[in-house]
Amino acid sequence: MIAKIAIDLALDRLFTYEVPVELSGGIKVGQLVRVPFGHREARGFALELIHPPTPNSPAPPLPTPDFKLKPILGIADPAPFFSGAMLKLVRWISRYYCAPIETCLKSAVPAAVLKPGAKAKERLFAEALPPSGDLKLTAYQSELLDNIRRVGGGWVQQLCHEFATTPATLKTLAAKGAVEISKRAQRRDPLAGRNVLPTRPLQLNDMQQAAMDTIAGDARLPVLLHGVTGSGKTEVYLQAIARELDQGRGAIVLVPEISLTPQTVRRFAGRFGNKVAVLHSALSDGERYDEWHRIRTGDAMVVVGPRSAVFAPVRNLGLIVVDEEHDTSYKQDETPRYHARDVAVMRGRFENCRVLLGSATPSLETWHNAKCGKYVLASMAARVAGHPMPAVHLVDMEEASATESGRPIFSKLLLEAISERLRRGEQTILFLNRRGYSRILECKACGHVMACPDCSVSYTYHRSGECLRCHVCGGWEKIPLACPECGARDFSYTGIGTQRAEAALAKCFPNARILRMDADSTSRKHSHDDLLAKFKAREADVLIGTQMIAKGLDFPNVTLVGVLNADASMNMPDFRAAERTFQLIAQVSGRAGRAEKPGEVFIQTSHPENPVIRSAADAAFAEFAEAELADRRESGLPPYSRFATILFRSQSETQARNWAELYSKSLAKYPGLSVSEAIPPALERAEGWFRYQVQVRSDSAGTVAAAWQWIAAARPLPKDVRAAVDIDAVNVM
Ligand code: ADP
Ligand code: ZN
Repeated sequence: MIAKIAIDLALDRLFTYEVPVELSGGIKVGQLVRVPFGHREARGFALELIHPPTPNSPAPPLPTPDFKLKPILGIADPAPFFSGAMLKLVRWISRYYCAPIETCLKSAVPAAVLKPGAKAKERLFAEALPPSGDLKLTAYQSELLDNIRRVGGGWVQQLCHEFATTPATLKTLAAKGAVEISKRAQRRDPLAGRNVLPTRPLQLNDMQQAAMDTIAGDARLPVLLHGVTGSGKTEVYLQAIARELDQGRGAIVLVPEISLTPQTVRRFAGRFGNKVAVLHSALSDGERYDEWHRIRTGDAMVVVGPRSAVFAPVRNLGLIVVDEEHDTSYKQDETPRYHARDVAVMRGRFENCRVLLGSATPSLETWHNAKCGKYVLASMAARVAGHPMPAVHLVDMEEASATESGRPIFSKLLLEAISERLRRGEQTILFLNRRGYSRILECKACGHVMACPDCSVSYTYHRSGECLRCHVCGGWEKIPLACPECGARDFSYTGIGTQRAEAALAKCFPNARILRMDADSTSRKHSHDDLLAKFKAREADVLIGTQMIAKGLDFPNVTLVGVLNADASMNMPDFRAAERTFQLIAQVSGRAGRAEKPGEVFIQTSHPENPVIRSAADAAFAEFAEAELADRRESGLPPYSRFATILFRSQSETQARNWAELYSKSLAKYPGLSVSEAIPPALERAEGWFRYQVQVRSDSAGTVAAAWQWIAAARPLPKDVRAAVDIDAVNVM
């Protein structure tokens, strides 16, 4: 037998090996095997097995290799990592997103699972043996034995702690035949120590019930659940999952990484308990290893995680839910540049399972698919229990800065509203739109702006630590004493940062308890969770933060939401700028007045007449989508075309530009493509590399992929230039 193996080298080709007779009984497609590679040993996935001819099935004409195939050394893990359907999915990703098959396989399994030597954690476990008459125990020992019987055994370490004894005493008990001590795998549980309260299914309202019925319909079409914020989408997910579990099938729930707060996880763990596995980036390697294996063995049937959880090896998968399906974090920004929502749709097709996409602000691609019948639409247009949508006020900041001195961070109207909440003991969330906005350090004398030497972005000023940080490469510097250009010692801090907003607010309300949530304040593990728990427990009056606080939070006592700078994202050089602005405003507004108390939202903008801002304020998604889709159709942009970018990078600016220009000219001749000039992106330089971009549009993604294969072969890049193609790019610049 011959096997084709994918070895982790990113060469996008399979290597052929002989399967020795002693392994031929055990080898399976999808397994991890050990092979000789050059002078070392490598590991790879067996993707194809070619059986030797038998008298009944004569051999197809095979080219005889003119060298001897090397044999596979052994099977690294008898349980296959990939099912047939999963291999099909990974192959699709490799083809569609133009990525080497090995790289695609690797992103489908957590590194913590593949790491050589990764294994379950084993610890000593003590269990009482059935009583027998002739035990000679001291009074102390028999009391200990009674205690162990009473609690039904436990980890040695834990028993020692609980009953104030030592491992040596337990060993003596074992030697006397009273207990048995053995090694057992101890689960590293990411939810250990967090109190998860069990919940029961709620009585669904009519809209939720109608959505449930739609989901139960034809499984071949994905369902878009378009429900306004607070319409009870999560309850629908929970009950749709319960229905699958009743049939013995499992489910995957994808959530944006940022909203993978334990608050979200708790809602699933609260309903399904131990059946839930969590996969996210803050897990330790051990936790990730154990969670993945609980899924593979079927111990966990419900997986909650960010984009990579779409690959979870759930047995008998019945449903994939993609919550906040419009979220850009579902697109991976390194090879393979897959979109987890689209991968979910394909997995649903290959595994014959249901796919449920949910959002209050669907992406226009998904909305378009629902409108033209590729997806089925279920709508929930009102909040549960008759809670009204919040009252939204647009505050004209041009007017505010004309009457108030300087450019205020907070308008008078918003300050009054906050003060009212403080009086009533209700809570406020303030949101700072950070897209395209940050706080910079500028020399007052010459106007020089401090910037990262390796990236074409200004440094962002951080008050904690008094330093300047680059948000692209992570580099930092101390605040300079004098301007490096002119030597003056006077700086101004422009732009609004969360820290500055916090300081300004504290000045207005010295007695208010303010919590700030941004990348700085949440860098410790659990700090994100701790901050939210504090806010939920009403230990703070105001929560101020970046997009992090925009999604998924459900705090009944929040009756006021303020968006400090709604316009910032409108100016992004991205054709989706309007869509992003709509999403941000609609999502943050959705955090107000989710329970009995009605909510109010203040949106500060310099363009209160802007139709995008207006429809976002009214949460009028369909109206916004119709206008925006008309624009997109006019300009031939997605969803009316497939859009890809090619990013060229080089340490030499000339090389990056020349090759981008060459590719742009050559690709322009390819039939069915419309190709842009070579353009320097908004971020012209990152980590010392110069960047150029070419944008490509076509009626089909297949054409883009074929054109890419063609040009990569016809015009191979020199060593000092790298290029990456991003099919269905979501961040254009
Ligand atoms: P969404 O995900 O659409 O924003 P949620 O699922 O978070 O909405 O629901 C909002 C609130 O309404 C939650 O507190 C939830 O427990 C509650 N809720 C959901 N469905 C019902 C229902 N059928 N009856 C009563 N309360 C509900
Ligand atoms: Zn930098």
